[in-house]
Amino acid sequence: MDGERRILDADVVVEQGRITTVRRRTGKGRRGKPGTRGAKPVELDCTGLVLLPGLVQAHIHLCQTLFRGLADDLALEDWLAKRIWPLEAAHTEASVYWSAMLGAAELLLGGTTAILDMETVRHTDAAFQALEAVGLRATAGKCLIDAEANPPGLREPTDRALREAADLCARWHGAAGGRLRYCFAPRFVPSCTGPLLRAVSDLAERAGAVIHTHAAETPVELELVKRATGHDEIAYLDSVGIAGRRAALAHCVWVDRDAIGRLARAGTNVVHCPSSNLKLGSGIAPIPEMLAAGCHVALGADGAPCNNRLDGFEEMRLAALIQKPRLGPEALPAARVLELATLGGARALGLESEIGSIEPGKRADLVAVDLSGPHAQPDGADLVSRLVYSARAADVRHVVVDGRIVVQDGRLKSADREEIRVEANAATRRLRRAVGL
Ligand SMILES: [Zn+2]
Repeated sequence: MDGERRILDADVVVEQGRITTVRRRTGKGRRGKPGTRGAKPVELDCTGLVLLPGLVQAHIHLCQTLFRGLADDLALEDWLAKRIWPLEAAHTEASVYWSAMLGAAELLLGGTTAILDMETVRHTDAAFQALEAVGLRATAGKCLIDAEANPPGLREPTDRALREAADLCARWHGAAGGRLRYCFAPRFVPSCTGPLLRAVSDLAERAGAVIHTHAAETPVELELVKRATGHDEIAYLDSVGIAGRRAALAHCVWVDRDAIGRLARAGTNVVHCPSSNLKLGSGIAPIPEMLAAGCHVALGADGAPCNNRLDGFEEMRLAALIQKPRLGPEALPAARVLELATLGGARALGLESEIGSIEPGKRADLVAVDLSGPHAQPDGADLVSRLVYSARAADVRHVVVDGRIVVQDGRLKSADREEIRVEANAATRRLRRAVGL
């Protein structure tokens, strides 16, 4: 994914978490003894595998991973009011921690190395603690809800919400050697007052942090915003300072030519979540039209209850496929989709100079994929096509984040997968009891 999109037979050298050299392979790959970090160099043998920059998912809710399968086949408004709001309100420190661990384990094992993550209102420290331990690169933020007509279990006074967000930012923005960053995350316009949104814009600017929110997901939402503010939603977000390179808006399904023009002119990041948009029946975001207008686009799985996977390969495949009935088979080709899943995501996190491609100077976020399975053969076919249309999360063999081997031979090394399964299930049972589900 370098500037020329070269595909090389090469060795990649990593020192202190950064790629220092990408050199054409001269001899046979030597078999090393990977796995321990010490003074001696570690060699991870990727012979026969495809090494690609780690996938970046720019819209995830780790706090919802425990809700997987608990909110199927509902429209967004019911999905939120009947299931997601009550479950989020019932979260404890422990349940947020194990929800993040479960989601992060799935993401890493499936080749996603970086995320933009919206947590719930409380216990965001616990999510950061999980992310610190498990080794995923993450920009995460406490979700902000302060407007009337929102669930009392989640709504907070404006000042308190902003103060906690600023405190979290001070603690976590740049933590773990820069691997963890903070984002200011107003839930969506109907959840937030104008003063809160304007304050978020100022806070993010001062901290050099990303603003992450949902926008234009359903016609009901657009109508609510129009009634409350008198503006179209994207124009309103512009007016409160949530636009531009620092902003990442999930969904943008219901955007007209005017809104697309605004997003493109400002350089606002749009995060496309095809599985979520299909499952909640929200619609098909006009991504090819946005790209043609010059918009910046990234991909994301959204939360587990509206997907139900957190699989970057699935999102790539669907992003390409869902446009084709509408615009023809040439719409959104595989190579463009791979750009959205790597470089596009990097830009949405404000990290385009740090991740998203395999180039000297960038952080070592790398994924080795085994395409030898029958579903990805024959091997003479276009490599990008095999990655986008044929590959699956289960094909991921090794994953490196910030130079640390976190998955090796398909096994999670940075945490105990069985412990995560047991604890996540126990936490889910407690949450279900608490809300009577
Ligand atoms: Zn979402």
